[in-house]
Amino acid sequence: MDTPARVAVVGAGAVGLTTAFDLAERGARVTLFERDTPGGGSTGRAAGICYDAYAEDIDVAVADSAMARFRRLSGEGEFVFHETPYVFLAREGDDAAAAALEESVERMRVHDRAVSLVGADELAARFPIRTDDVLLAGVAENAGWADPAAYADLFVEKCESAGVEFRVGDAVSLRTDPPGVAVDDVLTARFDAVVVAAGVHSRRLLAEAGHPIALKPYRAQALVADCDYRGPTVYDATDESYLRPHPAGVLAGDGVEPVEPDLDDWDPTADDWFVADALDAVRHRTAVVDPSGAAAGAAPTADRAWAGLCGATPDRNPLVGPVAEGVFVAAGWHGHGFMWSPAIGERLAEAVLGDGQTSIPDAFDPRRFDGDEEFAVVEGMTLDGE
Ligand SMILES: Cc1cc2nc3c(=O)[nH]c(=O)nc-3n(C[C@H](O)[C@H](O)[C@H](O)COP(=O)(O)OP(=O)(O)OC[C@H]3O[C@@H](n4cnc5c(N)ncnc54)[C@H](O)[C@@H]3O)c2cc1C
Repeated sequence: MDTPARVAVVGAGAVGLTTAFDLAERGARVTLFERDTPGGGSTGRAAGICYDAYAEDIDVAVADSAMARFRRLSGEGEFVFHETPYVFLAREGDDAAAAALEESVERMRVHDRAVSLVGADELAARFPIRTDDVLLAGVAENAGWADPAAYADLFVEKCESAGVEFRVGDAVSLRTDPPGVAVDDVLTARFDAVVVAAGVHSRRLLAEAGHPIALKPYRAQALVADCDYRGPTVYDATDESYLRPHPAGVLAGDGVEPVEPDLDDWDPTADDWFVADALDAVRHRTAVVDPSGAAAGAAPTADRAWAGLCGATPDRNPLVGPVAEGVFVAAGWHGHGFMWSPAIGERLAEAVLGDGQTSIPDAFDPRRFDGDEEFAVVEGMTLDGE
């Protein structure tokens, strides 16, 4: 009988937890190293929005399998996938966003996405949101949201049941020849392969081991506001803000900040300007307009607000696959890491344990960059369907 492969996974976020479970399910002996708390990195700070409304075939394939798996998992433990349409809109006067939206919906339809193009009246007839400022909107039906913390908790349980060994509390460093991890510079057990799923910290881990990757962190913010909202998830491309239903009312967030955060000294609390702007956006979009043109709706207040880190790459595709013999990375999600994690875990596990066969798109190959590229961060939620 073959000896099972021994695999180390670094990072117990949505991606590392899913990958560790999928490796263990396929027969590997897996050790998962997490320096803080499982699910306590970017995963615990994510909004949990999920959709399949992509315009590129590689993204479509990943999103399809991720959405199917979210639905299969829904109801296990405390994890629930809430079916909720995703509305993306351009406001009156923003012709450029409307044109981009129209073009991207056409491309999504080429890939059989259940997406329609609607005007303000049709949107108002269907959803309890303010639409009098809407020029054009896309409505994606195959969408929803889930609590990323509940997903992480579920996968901790699933990993434990599948025999994954957890090493929590140690920040590890990486060795690549042969593949291994070290705690306080002392090598741990021998591994056949190492998967680096350390979120935005993956860049430093790999660079220190001589394999720089093209990954930049950026800070994004979100809050939960108490108000009565039973509408869809909405991305306002003109305002570059989003909101989705939440048990307490609404979860709202913004996009990219122009300044690259210092990974050792970034602010995990939300800025005052963000809280004010996000509450304005919530008040605006959740107010239903009466026939006289007046907008009605109680002023929401913020229950809690926070910031988190996302990872960007030069071409907005993630970095998933081998960087050296037996050393793999999975990072650079542009704000899509939670919604893609169910599909990435499976594909990565197959790539690690397979004989060169992989269903990871070539476009995600981390070796397509040298790792020292200069690039500007482009935010994840955009209208071009990527
Ligand atoms: C405000 C906000 C909203 C977002 N909304 C969404 C959304 O709606 N939908 C969506 O899909 N995505 C969203 N995202 C993005 C999402 O959070 C990330 O893409 C996703 O969580 C990435 O998961 P991960 O497992 O790669 O990383 P993480 O969850 O960051 O996990 C990495 C783990 O590695 C650990 N680690 C780091 N270095 C070491 C080391 N040296 N040794 C051991 N462990 C280490 C960290 O402690 C951490 O737990 C959002 C992000 C933010 C900040």
